[in-house]
Amino acid sequence: MPELPEVETVRRGLAPAMEGHVIERAEIRRPDLRWPLPARMAERLQGARVIMLRRRSKYLLADLSSGESLLIHLGMSGRMLVSGTMPGNFHHPHPAAQKHDHVVLHMDAGARVTFNDARRFGAMDLMATDAAASHWLLRDIGPEPFGNEFDEDYLVARLKGRASPIKTALLDQRVVAGLGNIYASEVLHRAAIDPRRAAGRISAARVAALVPIIRQVLSEAIEAGGSSLRDHRQTDGELGYFQHVFRVYDREGAPCPRPGCNGTIRRITQGGRSSYLCPSCQR
Ligand code: ZN
Repeated sequence: MPELPEVETVRRGLAPAMEGHVIERAEIRRPDLRWPLPARMAERLQGARVIMLRRRSKYLLADLSSGESLLIHLGMSGRMLVSGTMPGNFHHPHPAAQKHDHVVLHMDAGARVTFNDARRFGAMDLMATDAAASHWLLRDIGPEPFGNEFDEDYLVARLKGRASPIKTALLDQRVVAGLGNIYASEVLHRAAIDPRRAAGRISAARVAALVPIIRQVLSEAIEAGGSSLRDHRQTDGELGYFQHVFRVYDREGAPCPRPGCNGTIRRITQGGRSSYLCPSCQR
């Protein structure tokens, strides 16, 4: 499931194809993804210029000249494919339509943006741009990890007295936007905190230290996404799922990468999901 860095990578890959360009035609090939697509979606998109493509948590928002915004969520398996020519950028021939291509945006400069989603956990919606923040999928999401609102005092106050494990607390989108199962494990390893510890029982100093670590782990992943984007431009135009070297995630049995630690990475299950940790250095 894409987390913040993957969605940010998709945004950066789509921006040259979409920002400043008019949607000449929108092909909507089915009435629903996870939920029904908005009424008259093709007509509402046609002729609109994309003013800005932004990201909120794991959602993309294309602000349109029509006064509406197109919300895009990749869900579990959603993929974005860019094809055609972008000035000074790259060229991928338009691929033949694939089975799970559900929405295709034909841009005026010749680029084509295809949303493919085999499992259809993805979502799209249209709303007034000035009401986007109160959209039901966005209104309860907490601060962006790179935003000013997310700081040491905020996180310490937010986790104070919380009985749930710290990993679960970090996955709570109301606490911080965009962290998922992969990067929560990575963050806690870097912070040397055991993911099972009750959030409210970790010292304020250690909780505060999570703020720069979260930013660092996500920045590094976004950077890795950026380099994969440059590679993908030469390959197939698919955006977002990049090879990133994780320190603990999916590395059960591997030696702990922390210098001086002789531990072995273990996988445990928390709330039905895998957590990876080094029991030797994460306390
Ligand atoms: Zn270790």
